Amino acid sequence: MDATRIEEVIGEFVQLKKRGANHVGCCPFHNEKTPSFSVSPSKGFFKCFGCGESGNAVGFLMKHEHYTYPEALRWLANKYHIEIQEEKLTEEQIERNNERDALFHLSEFAQKYFASLLFDNEMGAAIGLSYFHNRGLSDKVIRDFGLGYCLDEWQNFTLHARANGYSDNVLRKTGLTIFHDDGKCFDRFRGRVMFPIYSISGRVLGFSGRVLSKEKQQAKYVNSPDSDIYNKSHILYGLFQAKNAISRLDKVYLVEGNIDVISMYQSGVENTVASCGTSLTIEQVRLMRRYTRNVTVLYDGDNAGIKAAFRAVNMLFEEGMHVRVVLFPDGDDPDSYAQKYGSSQLQQYLHDNETNFILFKTRILLNDIKNDPIRKAEVLTDIVRTIALVPDLLERTEYVAQCASLLRVPEQTLQAELAKELNRRLRATREHTPDPNDKDLADPSQPPADQPSDATATTDAAAPATHAPVAPAVQFNPALHQERHIISLLLNYGNRTYPWPMKDADGNEVRLDYTVMQIIVGDILHDQISFDDPICQAIFNEYSTRVVDGATFVDPQLFVDHPDPQVRDFAVTVMMTDYHISDNWAKKQIHVPLPEERIQADVRESILSLQLKKLDKKIDDLDRQFPYAQTDDDRLMLMAQKKQLFLRRQEIGTQLQRIYI
Ligand SMILES: [Zn+2]
Repeated sequence: MDATRIEEVIGEFVQLKKRGANHVGCCPFHNEKTPSFSVSPSKGFFKCFGCGESGNAVGFLMKHEHYTYPEALRWLANKYHIEIQEEKLTEEQIERNNERDALFHLSEFAQKYFASLLFDNEMGAAIGLSYFHNRGLSDKVIRDFGLGYCLDEWQNFTLHARANGYSDNVLRKTGLTIFHDDGKCFDRFRGRVMFPIYSISGRVLGFSGRVLSKEKQQAKYVNSPDSDIYNKSHILYGLFQAKNAISRLDKVYLVEGNIDVISMYQSGVENTVASCGTSLTIEQVRLMRRYTRNVTVLYDGDNAGIKAAFRAVNMLFEEGMHVRVVLFPDGDDPDSYAQKYGSSQLQQYLHDNETNFILFKTRILLNDIKNDPIRKAEVLTDIVRTIALVPDLLERTEYVAQCASLLRVPEQTLQAELAKELNRRLRATREHTPDPNDKDLADPSQPPADQPSDATATTDAAAPATHAPVAPAVQFNPALHQERHIISLLLNYGNRTYPWPMKDADGNEVRLDYTVMQIIVGDILHDQISFDDPICQAIFNEYSTRVVDGATFVDPQLFVDHPDPQVRDFAVTVMMTDYHISDNWAKKQIHVPLPEERIQADVRESILSLQLKKLDKKIDDLDRQFPYAQTDDDRLMLMAQKKQLFLRRQEIGTQLQRIYI
């Protein structure tokens, strides 16, 4: 854990940008387009303000990669080159491991075996390795992608796996062996060159095998069937090898075949992925979007294929990606182009021929129109639908102008069509969005509206239900806000020591060293203030118990790892949102005191403000007792109490003013 740097660990899976002391990015646990996922290197944890996920590096790996605790530790040890002594698995241990684990083990075992055959086996070298060499792949790239060969025998792999303790059950589940009803079985990938498919973190999940013989009845590519560990619609081929380059260059190339990915990689275009033997899925698009918003789709020069792929591109737009496209010359794909002309030519070609997707699509469809007005109307609708998917207004306007000129229609016509389409989409989304007011009324877990809690105090029951898609109103209660701020000071700065101005026995001003925690706990206990927010109260109680017992240090990690999930969540949230100075101030050259300088003043100010708010509430309570006072004495006593509270209120007011000056 000491070696682990959380921003490096999470950075392997999420594109992070530094913002102040933290790193931020788009949350991998829920679907979002603006980043609300924050990672704190100094505190060693992450927190998503959108969906609430939080935790440390191990927690992240367990949630994101679905690792068990030991697996997550193993991953970290591997990353930071820390050796773990582990026993080699025996047959019984493999049996005992849960099934998922066994699938992972077998897949990795198979990958190593197939790869070894390329270099260590006569047939493997003669057929498999020479195939890859003929396609121009270097040994380094063959190793980087873990390529291999499955011998052209019925059971070579199956027997080898059985001999190493893998059960038929696991062989069947990974699909590496096909079992017939009569008990006979054979290797699924016999006689094929093997492309292992990796998870983002580099675990082998499945395989794609390419046939080498010319027999027509065999499929060119065979893929592993979906299993507990392999779901082809959630995987991008090559992402494991490409992810760092994608992040660094803020761009991904999307190609069709595995071999194109490898060929591009060898040509120095490392930020390339392919959809894994399927047409592009929404999950694959979201996977890309974790690393970049910029995708360039590479097409082979075949019109039918290009049009078939248009649908997939709409999905890219819907997910907020910026889409560009490169069309390869007739008969060439990225792989053949790289082989013919070499790396630098390929890179140059990509650079020179990248165009905007919407204009590209318009040009392709334009060829179909050929003076047919009905076809022209269809094309127009099709183009407008795609433009409507672009989230940015300025970009949309630009496309309308360019496409109108390409299609030779007045710009206003296209603009009107676009407005209609946008309206249609807006209506469709509203019909599918449940009214939040209905939900609140139906939800039995919500507190009843007549309960005088602060959370519901501002709810206006008489307000007419509005159907406009507005963001949920943030309920602001100054007392709660103040309470949370004080707890935030405890968690963030509780252990710091400052000299505080005090009065000694003779009334002289002296400065005495106390921790922030001692000051806050002392003042709050002295004034017998209780918190309205139960979580704040719970955290405060844990602090006060320790301070009263004489503790001078309380580890805030205690609350990050707290058994109560609400406390845990609250602690992580306030520890992630401590002082953040807006850049605007610096730009305007206004001196902003550093958080350091402000802490002491803030502690004083916060305690006094809270005291003030609680006093106001006490005065309110007294006022409410007046009508019920039976005798003049009772009334006089109430008035005396009220006067005392007023005096105290004035006193606090004066102290507060002094801080402001
Ligand atoms: Zn989230």
